[in-house]
Amino acid sequence: MSASPKIVIAGAGIIGAVAAFELSRAGADVTIIEARPRPGEGVSAASFGWINAITFDPENDPSIYALRQQAIGSWAALEQALGKPLPAHRQGALFWGDTRAETMVARDRHREAGCDYRIVDRVEIAELLPQLTLPPEAALFAPEEFALDVTATARMLLKAAEENGAALITGTEITAIESAGGRVRAVRAGDTLLEADRLIVAAGTGSGRILAPFVQDLGVEPSPAALVTVTGNFPQTTCITDSPELEFRIPKPGLLISAHDVPEGSDPEGTLARRTIERTRRILKNTGELAVRSVQIGQRPFPIGGTPLVGPVASLTGAYVAVAHPGVILAPAIGARVCDLVSGRAAGSGLQPIML
Ligand SMILES: Cc1cc2nc3c(=O)[nH]c(=O)nc-3n(C[C@H](O)[C@H](O)[C@H](O)COP(=O)(O)OP(=O)(O)OC[C@H]3O[C@@H](n4cnc5c(N)ncnc54)[C@H](O)[C@@H]3O)c2cc1C
Repeated sequence: MSASPKIVIAGAGIIGAVAAFELSRAGADVTIIEARPRPGEGVSAASFGWINAITFDPENDPSIYALRQQAIGSWAALEQALGKPLPAHRQGALFWGDTRAETMVARDRHREAGCDYRIVDRVEIAELLPQLTLPPEAALFAPEEFALDVTATARMLLKAAEENGAALITGTEITAIESAGGRVRAVRAGDTLLEADRLIVAAGTGSGRILAPFVQDLGVEPSPAALVTVTGNFPQTTCITDSPELEFRIPKPGLLISAHDVPEGSDPEGTLARRTIERTRRILKNTGELAVRSVQIGQRPFPIGGTPLVGPVASLTGAYVAVAHPGVILAPAIGARVCDLVSGRAAGSGLQPIML
């Protein structure tokens, strides 16, 4: 192996982009290979992009909760390293449950886990969301939470990585890994055989296919979710809102973005379009004529069991996997972990290493 190992990153979604930026600013020799024509066009393009802990029950997984809480600071550190503002929607976030009691239970669980969200009452909720038809009695407010335009963020990070000397190859699929003596040697990308001393597989739902000859079952399942964008009379930008009826944000006047589970049936896009219009009309007033601009269904890479898969591949020395959900929130922790792993440093990211 050469003095400066050649690092190949498979996938230019948000996870590959953060890893590329971090490695390139540490002086590594990095090449990112992306199958699609442009970076950030995988599931990252359909993401709601919310950096949050407020929707997560800390009892589900305290270590992931801690990473979610740290994510705001980690993204701020990345922004500082980039030296320019991230494309973010920053107005804080509101959360409420079906009943006041449910909202209070959530508040108590967060408080026990060390996070004291402020309770806002009906008057303050109406100030934060003036178009709300019927503000609830109480909600939790996280003023520091924000949402990213994930594709734009990935492209910004990759551009900075290129300025640091990284190479980005798009429209080129990795179809095979060449190994010798149990160690990664090269990847086949399109017609080219590209030398690789280290391979970081950050290819989302495509990661299992790349590693298939070496890992029988990576344990990543595609899980669909949808982003529906609606135009209408939304005079004011608002905070991010997770209400029982709709998870939405208004990042600029006239435009509402909402995130949804994907319904069963032969026409999920049509159902989602109708559902979003109905719910938006119900919870917001004076919306004028509403029109669906887009319904994007993305396949989120869900590691089975929920634990992020970030670690070395035991059957192939020099190969690492970086797949997690929720990937935007966790991307800075994963980028830090990847840097630790390829440089042989001890853990610093808070993510436990997974040996596959
Ligand atoms: C509706 C919706 C809302 C969401 N909301 C949130 C949220 O609020 N907060 C949050 O944190 N997460 C959210 N997520 C999840 C989040 O978007 C994903 O976890 C994250 O984008 C995953 O990033 P990634 O880089 O792993 O995957 P991707 O963005 O899919 O990137 C992987 C890339 O690898 C490429 N690739 C695949 N195979 C190959 C190959 N063989 N060779 C080369 N390249 C290859 C793909 O083309 C792709 O570009 C949401 C997702 C959806 C759909």
